[in-house]
Amino acid sequence: MRILKQEVYFPIIILIHFLFWGIDLYFYKGAFTEVNSDTLFFGEMRNESWNNVHRILGEVFSSWVVTVFAFNFLMATRLKWVERIFGGLDKMYLIHRRSGIIAVFLLLAHFVIVPRDLTEFTPGKPLGFYAFALILIGVLLSAAPVFKRKIPYHRWINIHKLMGVFYVMGVLHGLMVNSLIRELPITRVYVFGMAFIGVAAWVYRAFLFNVFNKKLDYKIIEVRNRGHRITEVLMTAAKKEMNFRAGQFAFFKFPTISRKEQHPFTISSHPYEEKLRISIKGLGDYTNDLSEKLKEGDPVQIEGAYGHFSSSYIKESDQIWIAGGIGITPFLSLAKDMHPNKVHLFWCVKNEEEAVYKDELKTITKNNPKFQFTIWPSDQYGYLDAEKLNINNYKNKGYLICGPKALKESLIKQLKAKGVSNENIYDEEFAFR
Ligand SMILES: Cc1cc2nc3c(=O)[nH]c(=O)nc-3n(C[C@H](O)[C@H](O)[C@H](O)COP(=O)(O)OP(=O)(O)OC[C@H]3O[C@@H](n4cnc5c(N)ncnc54)[C@H](O)[C@@H]3O)c2cc1C
Repeated sequence: MRILKQEVYFPIIILIHFLFWGIDLYFYKGAFTEVNSDTLFFGEMRNESWNNVHRILGEVFSSWVVTVFAFNFLMATRLKWVERIFGGLDKMYLIHRRSGIIAVFLLLAHFVIVPRDLTEFTPGKPLGFYAFALILIGVLLSAAPVFKRKIPYHRWINIHKLMGVFYVMGVLHGLMVNSLIRELPITRVYVFGMAFIGVAAWVYRAFLFNVFNKKLDYKIIEVRNRGHRITEVLMTAAKKEMNFRAGQFAFFKFPTISRKEQHPFTISSHPYEEKLRISIKGLGDYTNDLSEKLKEGDPVQIEGAYGHFSSSYIKESDQIWIAGGIGITPFLSLAKDMHPNKVHLFWCVKNEEEAVYKDELKTITKNNPKFQFTIWPSDQYGYLDAEKLNINNYKNKGYLICGPKALKESLIKQLKAKGVSNENIYDEEFAFR
């Protein structure tokens, strides 16, 4: 059950701030003054009381930045309870991405508005400036599409991990400079508490994650080239098996290709099957020609399982499944789940030959009368749309969608136009950045 969607996540953070700041400022009787301060664009301030708009707004913005980044570091820990709150790692990383961008605008607002105390020098001042500049560069490198295209994922992730260092610099700046937050009891505890959570989460992710999350050792027993750039890898556990539910994914490392890189792939076998299977489409440097790069006997290290695109998280018993291309992988596993649901799976492919798992899925339809399967080759029928799903009543059904972004966005829009509520649509992101 997804508790925090982005539609509620951001308003909750905003509301908490209004509440804590409101209560503290209402009761504030202290003597904080701008003895001699300047602002970037709004001139100098002398002997102004604490309740000037620059001071309050400037610091409210900084407390938002601390909170948003703290949650972002918490999300990066991949802890199960955090994943549960956000409804799956893919959804969590989506919020993580958007929050990072929002935080940068808040940081800019803080930098522009907050008054700078000129009465004494503290190392916190230049530290704050460097943190500001580095966070700006860090988020730009992390989020700008041009860098996403140009920087390979494994390099990008290493640069991204430095955000924690920049955050620590920002927190130290907050501890060293004179601020109104330090005078306000509730806001102070909240902001420095969040900063502590953020730094602790980053330390855990950067230095302790691999200690607490031992990877599971597997061995490749077969590599199959299924054509159409799809490689199937079958594995067995060397010692301990991974616990997973149908529809979940894990991170796979093939040390014979790279000791550093690990990639997320959905498990296309079912938990009751002996061999663990993944089905990978060649879409880049790492995944291209995998059938030539991997061979029987190669070791595999697995971290997981993750994800909420699984029967246990879906409440509707009448379900429509829509897969686009390699987005079929979670459904290959889910289709073997022995549940009483009524399911119609549509698999969108360019042409029928691309549907390399059609025999496997047709066998399942023979054994399970509640499971219906339609191949949707776009060269014959055009793109699938909500109308072509041919449903009498669109409501009270669960729609599970996994595939290219364009297919997902277009179908979700059309389903909503048919009156389907957000609650009934479940989608899986095949990208984390
Ligand atoms: C939850 C999830 C489940 C997935 N399941 C499958 C599946 O069952 N079958 C399948 O073929 N593909 C799946 N993918 C996609 C697969 O992970 C990417 O296609 C693959 O990592 C691309 O690597 P590349 O270096 O060959 O391509 P590149 O061109 O280098 O990367 C393409 C994009 O893939 C993503 N990516 C690359 N490397 C990584 C990495 N180490 N970790 C995370 N993301 C990365 C980035 O968004 C990148 O921009 C899944 C992705 C996710 C997030």
